[in-house]
Amino acid sequence: MINEQRLVENFLDMVKISSPSLKEREVGDYLINVLRELGLEVIEDNAGKMNNGNCGNIIGILKSPGKKKVLFSAHMDTVSPCDKITPIVEGRVIKTDGTSVLGGDDKGGIASIIEMLRVIKENNIEHPEIIVVFSIAEEIGLLGAKSFEIEKYQPDCGFILDSSGKPGVAIVKAPYAAKGKITIIGKPAHAGISPENGINALTVAAHAITKIKLGRIDKETTSNIGTVKGGSAVNIVMPSIEMMYEARSLSGDTLKNLLAETMEIFESTVKEFGAEFKSDVEIGYDGFIISEDSPLIAEFKRACDKLGVEVKTLPSGGGSDTNVYNSKGVPCLNLAVGMSKVHTTEEFIVIDDMVDMAKILVEIVKGN
Ligand SMILES: [Zn+2]
Repeated sequence: MINEQRLVENFLDMVKISSPSLKEREVGDYLINVLRELGLEVIEDNAGKMNNGNCGNIIGILKSPGKKKVLFSAHMDTVSPCDKITPIVEGRVIKTDGTSVLGGDDKGGIASIIEMLRVIKENNIEHPEIIVVFSIAEEIGLLGAKSFEIEKYQPDCGFILDSSGKPGVAIVKAPYAAKGKITIIGKPAHAGISPENGINALTVAAHAITKIKLGRIDKETTSNIGTVKGGSAVNIVMPSIEMMYEARSLSGDTLKNLLAETMEIFESTVKEFGAEFKSDVEIGYDGFIISEDSPLIAEFKRACDKLGVEVKTLPSGGGSDTNVYNSKGVPCLNLAVGMSKVHTTEEFIVIDDMVDMAKILVEIVKGN
């Protein structure tokens, strides 16, 4: 039922359209046409306006009144370099000429969803109500998903196609994540003439850093200071220092407590030295855990079993639109589409994986 040539052509068409985050207009227009041709009701939401982008999330609805509502989603934006993408088909693999990413993250997901829709239409397959969302600005903080008013559409569950790995892999856990800048403000003074008049921001930071928890904190929690910037000249007492901090945990409570404890330590340390501190560290997205015995996983397993595809449920260390939809109350899995070496110019995707993914989606839609 899957038309491999059609799927590959659609994928190649889409990756050739440059779509950095917040500049998804052209690929958005392409997808609006495809969804309309397939008979879906198409809506573009306000996510573009809300985030200063040139395109909103593209939503397509394939009605099936009275039936369950299932969300299928992938994101339209790609990371840089992506100004000009020249895909090369080499045997069963699609790669680039080495000057850009491929954008299989996440157009591989989009291509599989579109092929699924085409197969449903061609074969008159009975289906649940299908809500397709092609989101914007995933790569720069899940902005499209955050702006998407999922409550308007009320899906019962969702499948997000945005993980690397072989089809059959489902991400069932992802962490809550916080990040931001911590700035310690000391006081400048001439280092040789009047150092006693200054407060060295680095000294203050060092004292705090020896007290806060960094690295692996427990099985499901980590934290890190990744960059440090401070000082302007060797003969000036360092007036301020900026540190980029991040922390992640599968437990929202653990993360909140860790952040509170970290901030308290900075607060009390700067007081000790008569310095000040500022922080914009905040939780950027919520984590999720889908339990192994949930109906959603059962549904995915059933579809994979029919095709003889092995199912692997895995945790993820990062975030995707899946985090946002789960936190908005719609149980969602993040499925692997076969994209590899994403976010590099060596990115590639195996054609068979996209084909397998489309087959799995068709089985999901068919139900029992
Ligand atoms: Zn992605």
